[in-house]
Amino acid sequence: MPEGDAIYRTARTLHRALAGETVTRFESVLPALTRVHEDAPITGRQVERVEAAGKHVLMRFSGSLVLRTHMRMNGSWHIYRPGERWRRPRRDMRVVIATERFEAVAFNVPVAEFLGSEDEARHADLRAMGPDLLGDTFDEAEALRRIRLRGREAIADVLLNQRVVAGIGNVYKSEVLFICRVNPFTPADGVADERVGDLLKTARKLLRANVSTLGGGITTYIGFRRTRGRDESQRRYVYGRARRPCRRCGTPIRVQAQGPHARLTYWCPACQPRPA
Ligand SMILES: [Zn+2]
Repeated sequence: MPEGDAIYRTARTLHRALAGETVTRFESVLPALTRVHEDAPITGRQVERVEAAGKHVLMRFSGSLVLRTHMRMNGSWHIYRPGERWRRPRRDMRVVIATERFEAVAFNVPVAEFLGSEDEARHADLRAMGPDLLGDTFDEAEALRRIRLRGREAIADVLLNQRVVAGIGNVYKSEVLFICRVNPFTPADGVADERVGDLLKTARKLLRANVSTLGGGITTYIGFRRTRGRDESQRRYVYGRARRPCRRCGTPIRVQAQGPHARLTYWCPACQPRPA
């Protein structure tokens, strides 16, 4: 699943390309979308704004219509100049929003729907989303309250739950827990308020720092040698570094599938011991 900062970058790039422009062509293979287009054409509307809300990309059109897409594991938005060759096969295309200058193509997005402004207000997914770590403001008290509601669930799984706090993906999950020296399998209610505060502040800092670094890739560890920068795990403390020495203490990093979706968790057994 793309991390919150990747979604944020996608939304920002789409916004720069499309905002203020009139839609000249709309295309989709999704019947629910083409039905809306037939009733109330997307062509001729202006793209007002594109923004990220947690892991959703919201594209706002004039006439109070919002296209909501969710990338899940494999979805992505690309931007092309008219006539430019797509880097994905046409069969992966789900939605095309074209203006005179650009063509935005959503490939393999598993969730795409049009919402009216009232639908949006009561949309369960959006309403249930936890405080957004990439928002201009972040409600840490509300995030803490939601974390406390998870009781004994492992802290690593709780941090991944977008309804608790929005923005942390699987890479940041391991990195943030390592930086704050919290064992990923600790029950959430066994992590003191102050440590939870550290986790949230660290996640927000890392996510925001990575948003401002253009060129993609997640960097959490900056001690890497630039001459060997090809391997992404060099830019991280633990993620992708199983059996390699901990950057703090040299103990081999461990990896294990965790939680209902068996997401990989990396940690240092010495720096992040299991609670007694
Ligand atoms: Zn260590």
